[in-house]
Amino acid sequence: MPPGSSEEKIMEPLTEEEVMRALTEARSRDLDYERVFSTMCTRPHPIAVRAHQMFLETNLGDAGLFPGVAEIEARAIRMIGELLGHPEAMGYISTGGTESNIQGIRAARNASGRRDGNIVVPASAHFSFDKIGDLLHLEVRKAQLDSDLKVDLSSVESQVDDKTVALAGIAGTTEFGQVDPIDGLSKIALDREIHLHVDAAFGGFVLPFLGRDDLKWDFRVKGVSSITIDPHKMGLSTIPAGGLLFRNIKDVMSLQLDTHYLTVAKQASLTGTRSGAAAAATFAVMALLGRPGFETIVKGCMDVTRHLVSGAREIGIEPVIEPVMNVVALLVPKTPEVRSELAKVGWHVSMSREPHRALRIILMPHVTVENVNLFLKDLDSILRGMNKQG
Ligand SMILES: *Cc1c(COP(=O)(O)O)cnc(C)c1O
Repeated sequence: MPPGSSEEKIMEPLTEEEVMRALTEARSRDLDYERVFSTMCTRPHPIAVRAHQMFLETNLGDAGLFPGVAEIEARAIRMIGELLGHPEAMGYISTGGTESNIQGIRAARNASGRRDGNIVVPASAHFSFDKIGDLLHLEVRKAQLDSDLKVDLSSVESQVDDKTVALAGIAGTTEFGQVDPIDGLSKIALDREIHLHVDAAFGGFVLPFLGRDDLKWDFRVKGVSSITIDPHKMGLSTIPAGGLLFRNIKDVMSLQLDTHYLTVAKQASLTGTRSGAAAAATFAVMALLGRPGFETIVKGCMDVTRHLVSGAREIGIEPVIEPVMNVVALLVPKTPEVRSELAKVGWHVSMSREPHRALRIILMPHVTVENVNLFLKDLDSILRGMNKQG
């Protein structure tokens, strides 16, 4: 009987061989990253895989039992803090950008003491902010974007009131890779003494390596209180590895609860049991690559990005904005149809939201120039075919 068939008895043991066959069959249906241009994840660095395997059974939720991996996590956080302009920043390795955003805003809400507050986020914010509104009982106010798709500061200003517990800015938007004017948000936050959370889930491991001093978005900007940065995206770590860092200890303390049965008396993380493996993987990649290693990877991604944009222009397609990072949104007619035609020939791209229904492409380290060329050729012939049909 094939595994998974309706007659399969649910808790009847299989042989190890049968289990492995079922797993192998399932795994063979998972896509390889090769032609996946829609994802912000990628193949982990080999050293991340090794580190992950070494620490598979460790639990940072009960860190007294695992002081070794707890120290590795602390070292990872220190490195990320240094990367973000504040080596003394405090935080932890979370499960990803969603958890980090929840916790960054939760800290602000707890510190404010309010239970009827609101947050002001850019219209371009990741959907995790809608989950936050639901979970934390906060009204989520969306500020408009300017023509470059950065948040409009006057729109933010007009939505802030005395119930606002936090502002959020995005350093590397999910759909367009744009960076909000964090220094402008910082001024508003400092003036009104509001928490400013920066979501750099994707941009955190890109922006510091672009060699651009004009982009100011991390703890060097005075009003920034907390930052989300995901090692499992451009940090080449294993899933689930997110990062959350705070400027001040008071925010960490506002998240802490007493534990009753663990080896540590207090816990600030959202999840209880949590992966030491992902923290070890994060440390391992950062320690091995250092700044020069990440610079090389990001430069490679930006080269492929520019190659895509110039190739797209040659076939008459423009990006919505000139790419800041390795995220490109291409303006094509009938985007949903083009997207599904591309999928038929094996290319997986995604779409940005209205009003810019563009083909969204992430140039992760697994995306090669050769594949971009093949992709553009297929895109061109799909568009020509659609033109012929009218
Ligand atoms: C990917 C992303 C998130 C969500 O991160 P997960 O790890 O998928 O939970 C949040 N914010 C931004 C800007 C992102 O790009």
